[in-house]
Amino acid sequence: MIESKQIQHPQYVLIVDDQELNRDILGVILEDDYELLYAENGREALEVIREHIDDLCIVLLDLMMPVMDGFQVLEAMVADEEMRQIPVIVLTADKTAELRALKMGAADFITKPFDMHEVILARVSRIIELSEGRRLISAAEHDKLTMLYNRNFFFEYADRLYLYRPELQLDAVVMNIQQFHSVNELNGREFGDDVLRVIGNEIRAFLAETEGIACRFEADHFDIYCARQDDYAALLQRFQRKVDELSPNVDIHLRMGVKLWQEGVGPVLLFDRARTACNMVRGDYQSPLLIYNEDMRMRDLLNQRLLNDLRTAVDERQFVVYYQPKYNVQCNPPRLSSAEALIRWKHPELGMLPPGDFIPLFEGNGLISIVDSYVWAEAAAQVARWREKLGFTLPVSVNLSRADVFDQTLTGRLVKLMEDNSLRFGDIKLEVTESAYTENSRALLDVIARLREIGFEIEMDDFGSGYSSLNMLSAMPIDVLKMDMKFVRNIEHNPTDLRLVSLILDIAKYLRLHVVAEGVETEGQLALLRDAGCELVQGYYFSRPLPPEEFETLILQEIKREKETGT
Ligand code: C2E
Ligand code: CA
Ligand code: CA
Repeated sequence: MIESKQIQHPQYVLIVDDQELNRDILGVILEDDYELLYAENGREALEVIREHIDDLCIVLLDLMMPVMDGFQVLEAMVADEEMRQIPVIVLTADKTAELRALKMGAADFITKPFDMHEVILARVSRIIELSEGRRLISAAEHDKLTMLYNRNFFFEYADRLYLYRPELQLDAVVMNIQQFHSVNELNGREFGDDVLRVIGNEIRAFLAETEGIACRFEADHFDIYCARQDDYAALLQRFQRKVDELSPNVDIHLRMGVKLWQEGVGPVLLFDRARTACNMVRGDYQSPLLIYNEDMRMRDLLNQRLLNDLRTAVDERQFVVYYQPKYNVQCNPPRLSSAEALIRWKHPELGMLPPGDFIPLFEGNGLISIVDSYVWAEAAAQVARWREKLGFTLPVSVNLSRADVFDQTLTGRLVKLMEDNSLRFGDIKLEVTESAYTENSRALLDVIARLREIGFEIEMDDFGSGYSSLNMLSAMPIDVLKMDMKFVRNIEHNPTDLRLVSLILDIAKYLRLHVVAEGVETEGQLALLRDAGCELVQGYYFSRPLPPEEFETLILQEIKREKETGT
């Protein structure tokens, strides 16, 4: 391509330098491959550029010159729609000038004094090649709040650094603020802006000391493309300190994900991975820094695969629903009261996948609704089947995700499901995780309240894992509290946990809420809970989640027991 073009029109290179010797040296290096034009200062250069605007393929530009210097030339070129398309290589001996020129739109540098003729020739030809048919970087565009680059400009720029300055070997650093929306909500937007500004300032201070560029990617997300640092934890500390100084009384936590430079990995992928690492920090205030590693890469690949496989899995019915019993332990012997439907994925190649492997992934992108609807349909059909076959109606709880609740069609679909299977509303209970409530969104509360009015029983799942305070409970549309497993885990050994459990049970009783204790594994835990007044228990002590065929045995035992005791 390039060769045939050379035959058609000559490729012009403009050499701008006030020193005759420099012009001569470059001339000798380039004369065999290009048509050469010369200028002694900036003003002359601009005249030549205008004259040759159609066939000039590169400008080699000295920065320090009389009459009009290289920076002014760059400025004039960037401001001009046509001239901006012509790549510029800056000739300089000064590193800070280099960076400034690059920021102004230069494509590359050749350092003085000139040596290594092949290198110079190669760089010139590569940049000409790369600029062919390729939009050139426009004048820097800044984010007004932080004065960092904006996202588009940043990635355009990062691409060029990656292509033209591979020797820099830059790392991708992604930083953001934990729960920034609550910071804004609690302290006002203006305060939020101040925080972002402080971070922006410190990033710029950092970049004055090290090679690199940065942008505000969006909201509270910052991307930094910078030379390898010895200690990223220290870097994060540095930003955290600035934020702490700004607001000694407000707890604001930064987190950071890093993907180290890797041969052949361009900025887009590099930042994707840094972002993955950063997202994995979420909520973990203990170790707010993560450096992307092989495990995460495998995880990324697996996630990609699972996303691709979801459709087929639904079509081929690879999802299976297990059932875990809940027992009423205030009866003696304990009585089977209901069950929870828990999904598994029988993947044809990856084997049986637990929900932890795919539920969070699908929750992150809304696909969870597909999975959940599948489980609800399956669970409702199962309750109906057991009723037909065994003459026993066992209520089953299903899990709802945040995304489900915000789906306009939710109520209609659930009602239809009940009708299709001739079930009463009480036969299917809905578990909504506590963290969905803590957002305290009016819309969410309204939907749930409506479902409850219709007759569905609502269980608040994982209670105590989030932030909802006990006194908020009275205003929530719920019937049952499912106490998070962490409370139960240590009650045998930790008196504080036992006291907490008792407190929760007392308040629940006062609010007329039923309580399910989850994760009960031992006889000892069961005894303590029963004595403290807990009514319902779910856990391995009674049974692991079971496939429907095995669960039937539990139902048959229950039927037998009822016959014997007459209850
Ligand atoms: P969850 O809703 O809190 O469900 C309880 C989890 O605790 C289940 O894990 C259950 O197997 C486990 N578990 C029960 N008893 C014990 C015990 O005694 N000890 C221990 N260590 N664990 C116990 P599983 O089945 O792996 O499900 C994990 C989570 O995945 C569920 O937590 C739920 O958040 C989610 N999930 C499961 N199925 C669905 C679904 O159909 N839709 C949605 N949206 N989420 C689901
Ligand atoms: Ca649950
Ligand atoms: Ca739970």
